[in-house]
Amino acid sequence: MDTARTGFVYSDAFLGHDAGPGHPERPERLRAILDALDRAGLRESLVPIEPFPATDAALARVHDRRHIERVRRACERAPSRLDEDTAVSPGSLEAALLAAGGAMAAVDAVAEGRVRNAFCAVRPPGHHATRDRAMGFCLLNNVAVAARHAQDRHGLRRVLIVDWDAHHGNGTQDIFCGDPSVLYFSTHQYPCYPGTGAARERGKGAGEGTTVNVPMPPGSGDAEFRRAFEEVLVPAADAFGPDIVLVSAGFDAHEADPLVSLGVTTEGFAALTAIVRGIAGRHCAGRLVSVLEGGYDLRNLGDSAAAHVRELMRQEEGR
Ligand SMILES: [Zn+2]
Repeated sequence: MDTARTGFVYSDAFLGHDAGPGHPERPERLRAILDALDRAGLRESLVPIEPFPATDAALARVHDRRHIERVRRACERAPSRLDEDTAVSPGSLEAALLAAGGAMAAVDAVAEGRVRNAFCAVRPPGHHATRDRAMGFCLLNNVAVAARHAQDRHGLRRVLIVDWDAHHGNGTQDIFCGDPSVLYFSTHQYPCYPGTGAARERGKGAGEGTTVNVPMPPGSGDAEFRRAFEEVLVPAADAFGPDIVLVSAGFDAHEADPLVSLGVTTEGFAALTAIVRGIAGRHCAGRLVSVLEGGYDLRNLGDSAAAHVRELMRQEEGR
């Protein structure tokens, strides 16, 4: 198989975040992804990228210092909770810092040309974490931290964030809504948690137009997602001209997911990946970092992530 080099961020420390018994965002999610990558024979072809803990300075590019302190204190007195859905355990702080730092490490590897693109199998997820608030299973906004790191550390000025998690990434939107250097595109079930993400939310001030929301009614599937990507994302991305593409890769839009009622198939995620990889290929030498968000049906989460990674590994020419 003709493959481009694809990096892979993972650490057993991500299993140390425990949101409590019966919580859907559980360590087994990452085990399911590792198992599926093994079953698909993909794991040995991936280039391991070692995550490092994000520093307070890196987090403070997107989060209020008081938020960082609040997360730290909640983890120190764990088990405790930051909102009704978002609980922490003694291992949560290390996991959260490594999740954000893992996305940064993947940006480093892609920016320095060690790999063409990368997938980060991290948890806790990040896209609901706003500048000053943990919510919706998310402590720190991993993809937002990675976006600022790409800009500040590597001079990759224009960042496209594609968020196909089934929920709206209100945190990412909150952080970048006034910033024209970050194009935030999201498909999500609507109405649904967290309630934001209407099409009229298009950014504010200088960032007017660089937030693009495509709300999807329950029951939307591969065809509707594909249309949103081809007819809305591709023209917006081509006009924007990103220097790097980040993906908030949640797999809870899968038809088998227990939390949401969308109908994307495993093959559907591969098709969306091909579109996004095509954008990165046209504009920024393929530079793309994908960061896990949601996805709660273990078997289909694993298979969808494996299909996503297989598509990331494909050479542009073989498309
Ligand atoms: Zn989600």
